[in-house]
Amino acid sequence: MKHLANPFQQTVFLMSCAALEQLPADDLPEIAFAGRSNAGKSSALNTLCMQRQLARVSKTPGRTQLINLFVVPDLGRLADLPGYGYAKVPREVSRGWGELIGGFVETRRNLRGLVIIMDIRHPMTDYDTQVLAWARSRALRCHVLLTKADKLGFGAAKNTLLKVQREISSAAVQATVQLFSATAPTGVDEARAAAERLMRG
Ligand code: GDP
Repeated sequence: MKHLANPFQQTVFLMSCAALEQLPADDLPEIAFAGRSNAGKSSALNTLCMQRQLARVSKTPGRTQLINLFVVPDLGRLADLPGYGYAKVPREVSRGWGELIGGFVETRRNLRGLVIIMDIRHPMTDYDTQVLAWARSRALRCHVLLTKADKLGFGAAKNTLLKVQREISSAAVQATVQLFSATAPTGVDEARAAAERLMRG
C-alpha cells in the first residue's frame, strides 16, 4: 500500500455533539482544536487535512455550540471545539461555552492534547488564557498556531512568537508555539507533525 505522507488527508466527519454525554465513550486518542471565532481554525483544519470543506460544518456562530468530531483513520479523532469570543454570542451561550469546552478539556479521558489557534494580531485573549489554564490543570500538552502570519512582516511575526512563548512558559503550560498561515502557506508541515505527535501521545 502507498505510504501516506499526510495521515490527516483521510480525515472524515463523524458527528456533532451539543453535550458531553453525546460524545463517543471509547478510548480512541483525540486531539482538540480550540480558538477564538474568526481566528482561522477552520482554515487551519482544512489545510492540515488537505480538504477544502472539512470544517465547514463547524461554522455556527451565535447558534447551537457544537463539538464536531472527525475520524483520522489509523490515528484517532479530531475534535473541533466551538469558536469562542464571538461578539454576537448571547450570554447564555457563552456560559454554555465554559461548560462545554471547559468540561471537554478538563474531563475528556482520551484527550491527548490541544491545538490552540490564535490570530497572530490578537494572541492570548482572556478566552485563550482560560483554555490554557484548563489544560494546565491536568497537564495536557498544547500546541499553539499563531495563524495569519502572512499579515505581519517576518520581524513582527517573530517578535510575537517569542512573546507568546515567554507568556506561556511563565504560565507553566506545556506548550509549543509556531507561526502558521493557511494562505501563504507557512508552517503547515510543522503543524501537522505537532498534531500527529500529540495524537500519538
Ligand atoms: P474560524 O472562525 O476560526 O474557523 O476562522 P476561518 O478559518 O473561517 O477564517 C476566518 C477568516 O480569516 C476568513 O476570512 C479566512 O479566509 C481568513 N483566514 C484564515 N486563515 C488565514 C491565514 O492564514 N491568512 C489570512 N490572510 N487569512 C486567513
